[in-house]
Amino acid sequence: MAAVADQELAEYLQNSHNLSVSVSPAKGRCLIANRAFHRGEVILQQEPYVCALDDSSQALRCDRCYRQSSNLKRCSACKTVFYCCANCQRSGWGLHKFECAILVRLLKEKKRSPTPSLRLVMRFLIKRRLQAERVQLKAAVDNYDVCEVLPTHMSETSEDRLVMYAQMASIVQQMMAPDEVNVKEVTQMICRFACNAHTICDEEVRPLGTGLYPVISIVNHSCVPNAVLHFDGNRAALRALEDTQEGTEITISYVELAASTNTRRKALRDQYYFDCNCIRCSRLVTREGSREDAFLEGYGCVNSDCNGPLIEDPGSDKVICEVCGLKREVQQTKSAAKEVELDVLEASNLYAAGKLESARRLYSEVEAKQRKLWHPYSVPLLRTHDALLKICMDMEDWASALEFCQSTIPAYERAYPPFSPLLGLQYFTLGKLQWLLGDSAKAVNTLRKAYTVIQVTHGSKSELLHGLTSTLQEAQAEVAYKRSLINQTH
Ligand SMILES: [Zn+2]
Ligand SMILES: [Zn+2]
Ligand SMILES: [Zn+2]
Ligand SMILES: [Zn+2]
Repeated sequence: MAAVADQELAEYLQNSHNLSVSVSPAKGRCLIANRAFHRGEVILQQEPYVCALDDSSQALRCDRCYRQSSNLKRCSACKTVFYCCANCQRSGWGLHKFECAILVRLLKEKKRSPTPSLRLVMRFLIKRRLQAERVQLKAAVDNYDVCEVLPTHMSETSEDRLVMYAQMASIVQQMMAPDEVNVKEVTQMICRFACNAHTICDEEVRPLGTGLYPVISIVNHSCVPNAVLHFDGNRAALRALEDTQEGTEITISYVELAASTNTRRKALRDQYYFDCNCIRCSRLVTREGSREDAFLEGYGCVNSDCNGPLIEDPGSDKVICEVCGLKREVQQTKSAAKEVELDVLEASNLYAAGKLESARRLYSEVEAKQRKLWHPYSVPLLRTHDALLKICMDMEDWASALEFCQSTIPAYERAYPPFSPLLGLQYFTLGKLQWLLGDSAKAVNTLRKAYTVIQVTHGSKSELLHGLTSTLQEAQAEVAYKRSLINQTH
């Protein structure tokens, strides 16, 4: 069965996308480009085999296409899922019919409706049965065989996690027909989802839900990826971030890239069970690599006028500034930083509770303390500036928002690759603020930078790029108008 599925998958990838799958002893399956792709080109698109919206998006988006709409219709039976139109409801019904019956029963028994992760498992089981019974048709990349060859990493999964997954599996068994669910098999399935499912995001990279994309799951990780995932609704598109030659392996990043080598590698080991040996990770042992990490997660020089990175001072328990040679005590700085972490947590709770004024006050205190501890381009400061930016935007204090946004840019440019969606979005925010506050010349400059990045990461058809284009055109018209006034007066 698996061999037939492999063959079908290989034919589909070669014929429709000029891609192939190779197997490496260290990395398992790899997705290989069988032709050159240019920067910004879509390498592959895929609909999810199954997906589930997060609780916070459930009532705001169509369960079928994930579009936002002010006119969503709720399923009258389970009152849990929403659709944007009759078409979406009809095409979703084949699968939802079975899920709906379960949800209705839970509702009657006054039981909690399943979490998104459980809904994903339930939907997988329902769809697999429907395809096995040929009620729903299988396709080359839309069948459970291509899902079930994905690795589970069960033998590497910790005992604690396995116990939790087994509990989830038995909840699924209770919700569905007991003879339809094998707890052991579903536990294994949850292991597979944990390291293969993707977070579905909106255009501003905010999470909406989770989906299983069995072909996209073949794509391996790199901390210097040559591709990025972009979602149009819940359809995933793999977009090239650079010109790639025939024979190149396609890679994306599984983790936050604004992090030191140790942090990235730990996150990859914890969730995906491998040690990253990409070019960026193997730089750790070099001077350049340790300098990069000293910016991202290192302390600041004790001389506040110096921006030098602090690197290890062999033979002492201090770190030393590479530029001015001043040393800094590590233990004290570390415990001071830990204390500030508690304030960060409290501030973020205040923000989540909608207490903007108090959150802003506490974040400002945090920022002042962090500036004395961390390097100015460090990730902790970056996060605080981003939080303050968000709060000021919510409070419509545009001038302060502009200041905070501006201060994040050097750190963003260091922490993220030049064609990163997050960098493009940050340029866009900065450009909008400059435009709003009347600095149209600067706004044009920044919005052009945003355009260059977002055209690649989101594509020319994205709504975000349309919005960006019209803001850019308005700002350009304003600059031209101002210039014409100056010419008239001369
Ligand atoms: Zn829809
Ligand atoms: Zn329903
Ligand atoms: Zn790496
Ligand atoms: Zn220094």
